[in-house]
Formats: sequence, structure tokens, C-alpha cells
Amino acid sequence: MGTDRVYNFSAGPSMLPLEVLERAGSEITNYQGSGMSVMEMSHRSKVFDKIFQDTKANFIRLFHVPDNYKVLFLQGGASSQFSMIPLNLIGKTGKADYAVTGNFANVAYKEAKKYGTINLAASSEDKNHTYIPTQEQLKLDPEASYFYYCANNTIYGTEWQYVPDTGDVPIVCDMSSNFLSKPVDVSKYGIIFGGAQKNLAPAGLTIAIVREDLAGHELPYTPLMMNYKTMIDKDSMYNTPPCWCIYMLGLVLEWLDGQGGVEGMEKIKHGKAELLYSVLDDSKLFTCAAEKDSRSDMNVTFRSVSEELDAKFVKEATEAGFTNLKGHRNVGGMRASIYNAMPVEGVEKLADFIRAFDKNN
Ligand SMILES: *Cc1c(COP(=O)(O)O)cnc(C)c1O
Repeated sequence: MGTDRVYNFSAGPSMLPLEVLERAGSEITNYQGSGMSVMEMSHRSKVFDKIFQDTKANFIRLFHVPDNYKVLFLQGGASSQFSMIPLNLIGKTGKADYAVTGNFANVAYKEAKKYGTINLAASSEDKNHTYIPTQEQLKLDPEASYFYYCANNTIYGTEWQYVPDTGDVPIVCDMSSNFLSKPVDVSKYGIIFGGAQKNLAPAGLTIAIVREDLAGHELPYTPLMMNYKTMIDKDSMYNTPPCWCIYMLGLVLEWLDGQGGVEGMEKIKHGKAELLYSVLDDSKLFTCAAEKDSRSDMNVTFRSVSEELDAKFVKEATEAGFTNLKGHRNVGGMRASIYNAMPVEGVEKLADFIRAFDKNN
């Protein structure tokens, strides 16, 4: 890479594009002649307002967000959305459907139970979340206020390959770990949300795309700061937004534009994932955790033949400059998180390393 940086396969926070970091570094004490850092600016200043509006407009353009949706820049992480969603949406019928395909969907499911009757529309827990349920397996309630699922299961390395058909029931989706990795038909969703720290920006920014008609029906005790309507009415500026993270998102979006947008990124990220999966499938030592038709393009989970060899792999990989490959404790083995910012070269070199390790052990 020409620097002393490592290939960081962390699940999140994770790599940001080098050119984005360098640009942020070059502007860190004096943003474009303003005489100050973006971190030091009033969020109401003209200079910051331009950063904010340009970033929002680029997000809407690149992710093809239709006119009847609002893009919100919030704080509290994806986890705060686990409460915000039922608080704002469940009032319609008092019921909601949840598909639990991993850890974060399960946390959201348990949180939602505080606010209404929650139907478990599907669960992949029977096989330790190694697969995504099919449309036919979803037990949908036509009276649900909304249907909830997590598009990419960061810990288990599975990804939904289809958008569920829920009829008239609005779909709410956690895209924290595959946001802007591919084109999405936003019009099929009620709400899309995600923490920024996997694919988009530093930790501290949460993005919610909310279909306008879904806001304004919150439960009466909904905290002001957890009400989508508050944030829509004030264009995410009811209070101080995460200014620095929004600026960083703007830089990442400019970079993404240069990669061909989400359409370009889809090809790039799929090629990276295909390469890793094919090397793992061809190896004698390694097996992938996720079932083939449910594999994630963002988090590749795999293991060797023993825990000892897993440990040896992680140790030697770290020494070779491939860091954070140890799997989550719920799955064991290894996990290579290959988000948008992971260069193709990093994945190619990891693939070479896996091949060599397979041959030598
Ligand atoms: C990381 C992650 C979360 C949690 O995000 P926070 O911003 O830490 O609250 C939720 N959902 C998914 C899919 C994630 O990958």
C-alpha cells in the first residue's frame, strides 16, 4: 500500500478508503479556507450547512432514494433504531413481524417486545443462523404494523438475497453492514437504517431513510429525540448532529461515486467475495460457516479443521499484515469483513495467503 497500513478485516468500525483519510487529514486544521476544522464549526454555519446539504443530496442520488422518503442523520447507533422503530411504527395495530436471522435481529426483536405483540415471522436459530429463510418460510401476519429484518448478518456471515414480499405491510430493514454495497429498490421499504461504521463513515452516525407517511404516528410517550417526526421537521438538526461523521460520509460518497456508485460497487464487492469463497471451497482445510445460497458478500465466515489450526491461521495472518480475522465467539473460526473500502488487492493477497496456508498445513 505504500504506507505502513495493514489490511484490516475488522467487522466494525472498519477500514475507510485511504484517499478519504488522506483528504480528511489534509483538511483537518483548516477546512477549505474557513480557518477552522469541521470539528470546530457551528452546525448552523454556512460552511457546515453546505457540507450537510451536499452530503445528503449525494446520498439521495447515489442510493436512488425516492422523493417521498426522508434521509435522517442521527446518533445513537443502529441499536437505538431497535427502540425507535417500534416506538414510531407499532401504534398502527400494536403488532409487528420480526425475522430473526442473527444476533442484531434478535436484539431488535427482544427490544420491540416492550412495545407490542411481536410475531416471530422466521428464525434461523435452529442451525445457528447459517442460512436465510425463504419467502415460503416466512409466517407473515397481514395485520402487522411492519415487518422487520436484518439484510446482512455481520456476525454469522449471511445475507438476504431477496427482498421479502409482505403485501401492504411496510418493511423495515437494518442495512448496517451492507449499506451502499449494491443498488436497492428503496421504494420496497418503509424504513432502511444503519450505523455508518461498517461501510460509510466513522462510528457516531446513524442513517435512517424513512418513508414520510410512516412518521408522525409514534406512541404518546416516545421521547422527543426518538421521534422521526422531530428529526424530519428539523432536517436532522433538532440538536447538534454528528457533524464530523457527516463530513466524512460526504468524502466517502465522493469516493463511492468514483467507483461507479452502488452499481460499480456491487460488481467490485461481489468479485472480492467470490474470490474468497472460491479459494475456501477449493481448499482442503477450510469450510465456510454459511450455507452457499445465503453467503454474505460483506462478512466471510470460515473455519479450519481445528481450533488450534484456526489460532495458528489468525496468528500468522496477523504477522503477514492481515488483521482482525478472528471470528466472533458465537461462530468461532475466522471472519473476513470485506466492506466497500477493503481494496481488491487486500482480498487478493488474503486469498494467496489462504492458499499457501492450506498447502503448508
Ligand atoms: C454493527 C451492527 C449493529 C450495531 O450497530 P451500533 O451502531 O453499534 O448500534 C446493528 N446491526 C447490524 C447488522 C450491525 O452490523
